[in-house]
Amino acid sequence: MQYLESQIHEECGVLGVYGIENARDLIYYGLHALQHRGQEGVGIVTVDKDHKMHRVKGMGLVTEVLNSENMRPLEGDIAIGHVLYSTAKAAGPDNLQPFLFHHHTGDFAIAHNGNLVNSNELTRYLEEQGSIFQSTSDSELLAHLIKMENASKIRVNVIIEALNKIEGAFTFLVMTKDKLYCCRDKYGFRPLSIARLGDGYVVASETCAFEVTGAKYIRDVEPGEIVVIDKNGLNSYHYSMFKHHYMCAMEYIYFSRPDSDIEGCNVHAFRKETGKQLYKEAPVNADIVIGVPDSSLSAAIGYAEASGIPYEIGLIKSRYVGRSFIQPSLELREKGVRMKLSAVPSIVRDRSVVLIDDSIVRGTTSKRIVRLLREAGAKEVHVRIASPEMKNPCFYGVDIPTYKELISQHYDLEGLRQFIDSDSLAFLSKEALYTATNRTELCTACFSGDYPTQLYSSLDDEA
Ligand code: AMP
Repeated sequence: MQYLESQIHEECGVLGVYGIENARDLIYYGLHALQHRGQEGVGIVTVDKDHKMHRVKGMGLVTEVLNSENMRPLEGDIAIGHVLYSTAKAAGPDNLQPFLFHHHTGDFAIAHNGNLVNSNELTRYLEEQGSIFQSTSDSELLAHLIKMENASKIRVNVIIEALNKIEGAFTFLVMTKDKLYCCRDKYGFRPLSIARLGDGYVVASETCAFEVTGAKYIRDVEPGEIVVIDKNGLNSYHYSMFKHHYMCAMEYIYFSRPDSDIEGCNVHAFRKETGKQLYKEAPVNADIVIGVPDSSLSAAIGYAEASGIPYEIGLIKSRYVGRSFIQPSLELREKGVRMKLSAVPSIVRDRSVVLIDDSIVRGTTSKRIVRLLREAGAKEVHVRIASPEMKNPCFYGVDIPTYKELISQHYDLEGLRQFIDSDSLAFLSKEALYTATNRTELCTACFSGDYPTQLYSSLDDEA
């Protein structure tokens, strides 16, 4: 069966700070480290000693939106922050996070990463109960659930009840006047880690945010767990006994920064290992190995190491252009790819090249890069993809589009090779992903079509 794309795709970055003076400064640097998880918008909410909440948010990069002037009012030693990545459907200032809610029992703020699969059903249900939504964000949904039946102060049991009504991939940070609730879905799709800094704590979607803040990693929030941080330290609760570790494979393959560790596995080390596996599965004779910067460089190093073929820099990426996917239309994306990457003619000329990329989604990037390399004089271009063929959309927050837009839905391997015009083409096997992560559970739904959750109304037939 074919599925419609879900309405919201939000693969974002969340960050929380508890008990650190001028928390805004740490949030600023931490969000900067998480910028790759979302370049469309950014926001911070802090709570001061009088329990007043302050917020700044705007569309754009961390350095574009935030400055010392608009951050000055962000007083307090508890804060949450967010970087937003969303597709055209969920784009726009209404979906900027964190959301700040005013309530007679006390203000609270929420930031999240991921995507709920039953949000349509829950929104309809809540609207029938009288809720009115200002955005399409899952954070707003959670706020309504938290406040729906219980008008008293936010407590952990209220959050447990709310989390048990939602289904999908998420990490939520809920900040009240004196507490930070750090929640992770029971399937374990999205990462969330905790670190210690002095007497305080930092919580982040990725551990790379800890390095810049000087915080020391202590542990991950477990699937189905709510870690409450308050003046007594960390307290752990579980909202569900069902627990899995279906970490999103794309977190390892593409999304996360190479210096992050996801559930104990370093992202660079994982990608390098996939490169080695790729050589084992699809060897080729060539003069040089090159990777598509930045996310494929580690896999290219692995392929070169395993094959003994020299690793070279054959493509250069302009530091100052955003990711091609961030452009909502195909035309803009193609322009983005052209502006972003150039071949290095003196390296690739008259050479047979192994080109490693992390994935093929719509096929725009590979086709364009093969052409770039040929125009720069490459004799042969052998494309090796460090992930399996992507044939299914993601309903859990990664921007992997509809069946229609996925190029591997339209071509078999040979057809796709002809489409991108390479001399050969091979993908990594699904099994190799498990080997490279050294895990028995992963979400590989975009490759296999095996979705770990129910899909509710995302399950409509594709027109
Ligand atoms: P495409 O041109 O659609 O085939 O894009 C493939 C490229 O986009 C790959 O080189 C990846 O590095 C990158 N990519 C893969 N998945 C995603 C994603 N979910 N969001 C943004 N970029 C992606």
